Amino acid sequence: MFADLHLHTRFSDGTWSPVELAAKAAACGLRAMALTDHDTVEGCDSCAAAAAKLNVEFIPGTELTAELDGHEIHILGYCINTRNPELLAEMARFQSVRQNRIREIVSRLNDINVPLRSEAVFQLASCNAPGRPHVARAMVAAGLVNNLDEAFERFLKRNRPAWVPKFKMSARTAIDLIHNAGGVAVLAHPGLNHCDEIIPDIVEAGLDGIECFHTKHSTSTVEHYFEIADEYNLLITGGSDCHGMSKGKPLIGTVKLPYQHVEKLKAKAAGRKSPDAAGSNA
Ligand code: AMP
Ligand code: FE
Ligand code: FE
Ligand code: ZN
Repeated sequence: MFADLHLHTRFSDGTWSPVELAAKAAACGLRAMALTDHDTVEGCDSCAAAAAKLNVEFIPGTELTAELDGHEIHILGYCINTRNPELLAEMARFQSVRQNRIREIVSRLNDINVPLRSEAVFQLASCNAPGRPHVARAMVAAGLVNNLDEAFERFLKRNRPAWVPKFKMSARTAIDLIHNAGGVAVLAHPGLNHCDEIIPDIVEAGLDGIECFHTKHSTSTVEHYFEIADEYNLLITGGSDCHGMSKGKPLIGTVKLPYQHVEKLKAKAAGRKSPDAAGSNA
């Protein structure tokens, strides 16, 4: 019995709808799944309904963009009440910042005579939390570049002409939001962050768990974060970080988190009930 607790849909930068994602989860035999779109929970209701029909346990989640000491980190929130007003208000604010960033990126492209329109990006993204992958896809669709890599390499990555930094909330704010929505806060893919030295400070800010299993973690990386989990008494989670078909072969189900860790995650959340949960938290 396995779970995949790191999955994206088209409500952020994935390619599948929540219903399609649930079907893929069932098809690869997952006992449990979590939806963790960047800075949004919009897909959770429909994914929960689809998963229930297919007998896959659904954990509502999100992946918040945060920072500590100048390092970008991603904080996963699990078992959150997706109707929590404070969480929804903060996400709405964050989403409008993301949309303004898209306009800024497009304006920089226009400055160097790359004729992209922000409406084209918003239309292609058709979500509230758009990011650079949507700009890249819109550039391919408009015939301005040949592929996504070219868009990033020539224009979108750091030190390129259309680079615009991303607004990030503080790690403490992200963790507080998740806790206040009754959820459990987990550090995503620490192996990609290259800043283990800030882990003690994230723990101090209230971190509950660490994503040990991830597509881009080697066996030795997994072992390393087991030790850190042990040292700081953190829950262990894991997931594929599947974005649908956007990066070639779908990753869903290729990272297998033993179900016992899901039990521990739920037990932690049960001790932290959101005042707004009112029994209706899907
Ligand atoms: P953003 O959050 O808007 O800064 O965009 C970050 C996303 O861009 C991440 O999900 C990355 O997977 C994606 N990304 C970064 N570099 C590349 C690249 N060279 N090709 C394709 N996707 C990329
Ligand atoms: Fe992503
Ligand atoms: Fe991430
Ligand atoms: Zn992710």
